[in-house]
Amino acid sequence: MELNLASYEVSSFAVDASRLQFDENGKVKVEDFPAFVHEWWHYIQDISTITGQNGFYLWLRDIIRMTSITCSGEGKTIEIPMPTDKYEEVYNKYRRLYNIFCGLKEDVYIKNAAIVGEPTIEPNGIKIDGEERTFAKCEIPMNDDTHYFGLIALQELNAFYAQKICESYVSGVKFNVPVDNLPEFPYKLGDLLFDYYEIECNLQTKFMISTLVLDTLQAPAVFLFFLQRMRGCKIEYVHDRKKILSTLEDVMKQYSYPNEAAYTEWGKDYNNWLNDESHQMLRESLKWYLSMIGLADKLMTEHGKDTLAFSFCCGPDAMNVLYKLLPVPLIKYNGQVLGQTIDGETPFSLAAQHDFDNALVIWSHRRIYDLLRSTTRKEMEENSICPLYNGGECPYLDRYDASKGYDCRLSPWMVVKGEKQALCPYSVAAHSMGLWQNEVSINL
Ligand SMILES: [Zn+2]
Repeated sequence: MELNLASYEVSSFAVDASRLQFDENGKVKVEDFPAFVHEWWHYIQDISTITGQNGFYLWLRDIIRMTSITCSGEGKTIEIPMPTDKYEEVYNKYRRLYNIFCGLKEDVYIKNAAIVGEPTIEPNGIKIDGEERTFAKCEIPMNDDTHYFGLIALQELNAFYAQKICESYVSGVKFNVPVDNLPEFPYKLGDLLFDYYEIECNLQTKFMISTLVLDTLQAPAVFLFFLQRMRGCKIEYVHDRKKILSTLEDVMKQYSYPNEAAYTEWGKDYNNWLNDESHQMLRESLKWYLSMIGLADKLMTEHGKDTLAFSFCCGPDAMNVLYKLLPVPLIKYNGQVLGQTIDGETPFSLAAQHDFDNALVIWSHRRIYDLLRSTTRKEMEENSICPLYNGGECPYLDRYDASKGYDCRLSPWMVVKGEKQALCPYSVAAHSMGLWQNEVSINL
């Protein structure tokens, strides 16, 4: 749960905006706009930083592994919970690894958190594919406890700055949830850390540093090591840009893995997946996803690796241009899933429609992945909700027929049974996950 008004679904490209107010043109009202920008910024983190891209890649790896079970043969039974693999590990293990790195979202929100001791960075081992993998585990002593500092906390403290910068663009407005009302942990953890290391800098500088750090594979550790190096300094992004970038580069070389090595490894896998004839629609949507990464990368690196983030903090006009180029693809609103409201038949609005169609296919795959990895009845019930089905109203299946013996509210994956063609994005995913040819058996 997010304490902000809205929330973002990681690797699914969807902002839940049900609690935001919209005007008659379908645009978010100004008093909620910074809260919306906060969630949009999570989407930018997802597609433009290596940590976000890694989460998507690892999820996709799981999906492809799962299809080796769910799509092989016909008339077989897919057991939920799924069996373990040859290492006796679960099928969703790559994404699970990533989640450990991220830290649990619902872990803790702490009002009035204070750092009471030096943050620690220790190597931590996780077993996967029968081998031990190491990542840096960061912990921060706060109040009477020690708290894990994972990727989620870093993404939140960065989105906090994005929201705060956006608030500064709109003067004379009373915001519904002012950014400063958010709890200290994780949102204001950046401020607490800059203070702890006695680094004097402005909002723009904090935003820039936390954004750049997210583009390194061991982001939370790189952030802490960077702050240690800068201890007691007074820095200002515009004047000290060179020094900040070179220190970051240095820290990254010493404590993280090179991004290029990851891109090379992913490139091979993406290439295989894009050539896989058996998942046509997913393949198309992956092409879209990769083009979004490509666009973000182009915007990001145009005038140095800080271009995208820097343009965000160069005033409301620059921010609006950035939004038009990379709008959030899916907006959840009171049980419905909407695309972007961008006026007219402009290239922007056509592109937004394209984003919507493709993101919906990916999201549906995500729903079915979540369903298949369920380990409890409660989880399964939550994961079987179709994102498009709204209490009997579905924009795709207006001819819903109870005589078919299933209900999209309870077992949406049955939508592919006895159908020759995909009826909706969810059924595209159900089809590509092999649920048309094999039965699901739930033993929870
Ligand atoms: Zn957030």
